[in-house]
Amino acid sequence: MIFIFGANDKVIEKQHCYNQEHCYHCNNTTNWVLEKNATFASLFFISVFPIKTRYVYYCPICKNGNQLNEDEYHWKKNGR
Ligand SMILES: [Zn+2]
Repeated sequence: MIFIFGANDKVIEKQHCYNQEHCYHCNNTTNWVLEKNATFASLFFISVFPIKTRYVYYCPICKNGNQLNEDEYHWKKNGR
């Protein structure tokens, strides 16, 4: 029997933040995007379980942004 293992990235949650943020990269002030994504282990090309979760916060115009930890992500998500 042959098993095919792999890994793939998935966006789990994506939303615009309530607070506006100024981007020094493209010089625009907009509602930045909060995104949670994860790398899933897959078996026969079907995602089985997440291996790694990432939280990112970025400018929707130029995609400039930074990574957040889980707490920061939830604070921003709740509008703080
Ligand atoms: Zn920008």
